[in-house]
Parts: sequence; structure tokens; C-alpha cells
Amino acid sequence: MKMISEFLLLSIVMFMTSSSLLASSSSNNYESFLLCLDIHSNFTIPIHSPTSSSYTSILHASIHNLKFMLPTIPKPKFIITPMHESHVQVTVLCCRQHSLQIRTRSGGHDFEGLSYVSYYVPFVLLDLIHLRTISVNIEDNTAWVQTGATLGELYYRIAEKSRTHAFPGGFCPSVGVGGHISGAGYGMLIRKYGVTADHVVDARLVDVNGRILDKESMGEDLFWAIRGGGGASFGVILAWKIRLVHVPPTVTAFIVPRTLEQGAKALVYKWQFIGDKLHEDLFLGVSIQAMHLDGDHNGTLPWIFRKFTTVNGTKFP
Ligand SMILES: Cc1cc2nc3c(=O)[nH]c(=O)nc-3n(C[C@H](O)[C@H](O)[C@H](O)COP(=O)(O)OP(=O)(O)OC[C@H]3O[C@@H](n4cnc5c(N)ncnc54)[C@H](O)[C@@H]3O)c2cc1C
Repeated sequence: MKMISEFLLLSIVMFMTSSSLLASSSSNNYESFLLCLDIHSNFTIPIHSPTSSSYTSILHASIHNLKFMLPTIPKPKFIITPMHESHVQVTVLCCRQHSLQIRTRSGGHDFEGLSYVSYYVPFVLLDLIHLRTISVNIEDNTAWVQTGATLGELYYRIAEKSRTHAFPGGFCPSVGVGGHISGAGYGMLIRKYGVTADHVVDARLVDVNGRILDKESMGEDLFWAIRGGGGASFGVILAWKIRLVHVPPTVTAFIVPRTLEQGAKALVYKWQFIGDKLHEDLFLGVSIQAMHLDGDHNGTLPWIFRKFTTVNGTKFP
């Protein structure tokens, strides 16, 4: 009996010693990581640790799925909000040196929270919130957009310069151009102009060695991969150079609400047979919404056709 209790005591002491050694070695690692950022950057890098007052508000700022705010969800050891491209380079190098995973966040719309959650290893959130400059060049139909910008900001900056230029991106204005374009992307202009990533003509990316590469220096394969293969697998994309497309100055939009009682099912059925034959200037979508629910959860489902057209005289069937 005495031997068992001595063994138990020894195991507990060993466990406590090894956990405190682990804790102190990881806190040494974090201190050395912060030192690494400090000595390799000419300008102060904004770093937010869990004890900073800014930490939670920055972390939550672009979490769109509230379940990822739960206390049980792993949180980043640090949040870094780079002000310059060089801050991204230094972050990549120091994270690599200190075995910290990087989660890169642009608009934060990832359905799985992959831009700000990692389950098995300590990680740093690289939030590109300050890298959101957009410069539109109407003369050559292009724009450079930093990946912290949202689609809405991009559309706005283009519209400021021209009513007849557009970018064929997604519907939701708060989606970030970092994740959207690197995952291909599509929106209302897809029938006429294809997916969003088809309109990227150049990019700037920080690779695992902290180098900034453009289309030419990254090579054809990597340039192909970041336009649909998910940016985070390959590096941190700093900016995209995009090609703008032409649109007419006036666009017509219709919403046609139909309930099941009003024949919504027959309409959707028919739509499947004519959808692909419509003119490519016409975009037609359907969204199904629950409405007029009473206390017994009985209700009707209006099927709303959204039609955006530039074709005169096109009739809705
Ligand atoms: C409400 C809503 C509406 C949507 N509407 C559309 C739509 O109309 N059309 C459409 O095609 N899709 C749509 N999506 C999907 C959306 O395009 C993808 O979820 C996209 O990945 C989100 O990009 P983000 O930058 O906002 O997200 P984030 O969560 O920031 O990033 C998504 C992924 O990309 C990585 N990433 C982000 N920035 C970079 C970077 N600079 N370098 C490297 N990797 C990076 C992240 O690490 C993560 O893995 C929608 C999503 C939501 C939630």
C-alpha cells in the first residue's frame, strides 16, 4: 500500500514538473517570438496578446459565425495586424522559426472559421484589416486591391471612377477579396464573364521564406493554384491585380415573389429548362424564404426570383 502511494506521489510530482516545464518553455518560446518580430522590423508591428484590451474586439470584428466566439474554441496566441507588407514577411519568418501556425484573415467569411481558428497547434492570427488600399486605373481597365479590402469597398472604388466598369465578384459586400478570389468566387456577372479568379492578372504573395513574389517570380503553377486552390495553402497573398469588365450604365433589377399557392414550384421547374437558353446578359436566381409563420409554424414559402438584366424586351416566362 505504501509503495503504491509513493508511486502515485512520484507520478503527480513528475506530471506537475513536466507541465510547468512545458508551460515555461512555451512562454519562453512566445517571448522569443515577440523578440524576433521586434528585431526584424524597422517599424513597430501591431501585436495584440490576450491581455491587450484590443484583443477581443479585433478577434471578434470579422467572426461572422457566432459559434466560433464560444470560449471552448481555441484562440490565437497573438493577433498581428500588419501596417506594411514587410510586417507580413517578418511574421511569416518568425512564426516559422518558433513553430507557430499562421491563420490569415481577410474578410473572415470562411464557413469553417479556418481564417481564425486552429484546433491542434498554437497559432497566430494574421489579420489583414489595415492592408486594404485599392487603386483603380480606368485607362487600362485594371485595379490593384490589397487583400484586407472587402468586395463592397472594391465595387465602390470602381463605381467612383466609372459607371461602365465592374468586377465580376460575389454578391455579399462584406466578403474579403483575400479568401473570395483565392477560392475562385462567383457572382451576378458569372454567366457573361465567368468566375472571379479568371480576372486576376497579377498578384503579390509572401511565400514560406518571407519573399514577396509576383506572377512572374512565383511561376505559372503557383499563380494558377492561388486562383481557386485556396490562398492559405500557399502563402499570404498581399494584393491582386484585377482586370475590370464593361457593363452598361443602367442595369434593371426585378424581384418576382411567388408563394407555393401561386405556383412557385411550377415556375422553378420550368426555369430549369429555359435557364441556360437565356441571353448571357440576364442573371436569374431564386431564393427560398420562410414567411408569415403563425404560432403553429404553418406558413407559406415565397420563392423569389431575382432577375438582373440589360436586355430590352426580355420577358419573364
Ligand atoms: C454571407 C456570405 C456570403 C457569401 N457570398 C458569396 C458569393 O456571392 N459568391 C461566392 O463565390 N462566395 C460567397 N461566399 C463564400 C466566400 O467567398 C468564401 O467563404 C471566401 O473564402 C471568404 O473570403 P474572406 O476573405 O471573407 O474569408 P476569410 O475567412 O478571411 O478567408 C477564407 C480563407 O481564405 C484564406 N485567406 C484569406 N485571405 C488570405 C490571404 N490574403 N492570403 C492567403 N489566404 C487567405 C483564409 O486563411 C481562409 O482559409 C459567401 C460567404 C458568406 C459567409
